[in-house]
Amino acid sequence: MKVLFAADGWEKWAPAIRAACPEAELLQTARPDSVDAIIYAPNGPGCDFAAYPSARLVQSLWAGVERIAPDPRLTQPLARMVDPGLRQGMIDYCAGWVLRLHLGMDRYAQDGIWRNDLVPPLATQRRVTVLGTGALGRAVAGALKGLGFDVVSWSASGRAVPGVPAFAGPELPQALARAEILLLLLPDTPQTRGLLNAEALALLPKGAAIINPGRGTLLDESALLSALDGGHIAQAVLDVFQTEPLPPEHPFWAHPRVVVTPHIAAETRVETAATVVAENLRRVIRGDAPLHLVDRAKGY
Ligand code: NAP
Repeated sequence: MKVLFAADGWEKWAPAIRAACPEAELLQTARPDSVDAIIYAPNGPGCDFAAYPSARLVQSLWAGVERIAPDPRLTQPLARMVDPGLRQGMIDYCAGWVLRLHLGMDRYAQDGIWRNDLVPPLATQRRVTVLGTGALGRAVAGALKGLGFDVVSWSASGRAVPGVPAFAGPELPQALARAEILLLLLPDTPQTRGLLNAEALALLPKGAAIINPGRGTLLDESALLSALDGGHIAQAVLDVFQTEPLPPEHPFWAHPRVVVTPHIAAETRVETAATVVAENLRRVIRGDAPLHLVDRAKGY
């Protein structure tokens, strides 16, 4: 089976994928009509999918497929990355920031003042809303629930996470109205773009904090700045942006109540992701349906 690798990072990926799937012949160039599957990420050399008529799978190395799914040249099944390393990384990032915001840890400055009147609240007293209950949102909502937080979720279908009350589609206002801490774990699609606009932000309780490791397009950045400056939103932790890298002159960098992280919330880890890729390649070899297929009409 010939597998074309069209992504950045050949040196680290090739040995791991070859070890996980010795049946596959992994190549950086190949006669287009001989290719059975393509491993792809938008950070690589690019790929005209239409030139590979025999390919039975395009396997994305990234979880977010907004730069691949709309490509009109893509007619092959597209699988996105659903990887245990990515999942654990996102749990770590979200749990870390939720705990830091919840406990108000930044109040305890190194300034010689003994602030023992600031008793930390309990997680059970903190209402958290997770938007998106896919591979990552589900894991994060479950982990926060496990830490004791009062968590609810919202998604298109209202698919529930065990122990976490779920809101669906039109119930977004209810999910926002109780969100002292709001986590955005939605994909970038035409339906989710600008979802968190001025109107939606105004539905959050005064003093809410937002954590966005989903996609920058979910948030209206100007509306967020206005809500921060007006005091309605207390804090924002942002990992993803409308423009990446975030330009040095962007007001988020200098804003006292914004934390910028450079799209590092969760990385695809070669160690675990190579096994995920190998499983899908073997499915192609056996003629079975690949896992984690993208619904092109929905865009995720
Ligand atoms: P996923 O499994 O595809 O889940 C997407 C979730 O979003 C589903 O619960 C889906 O609802 C919901 N959704 C989609 N469109 C919606 C809409 N219009 N209204 C309401 N809910 C909607 O995705 P995932 O693996 O959890 O990943 C989520 C996103 O995280 C990725 O798309 C990517 O953008 C981002 N990400 C960021 C990083 C980082 O380092 N910052 C790393 C990895 C991923 P249903 O369940 O009802 O379909």
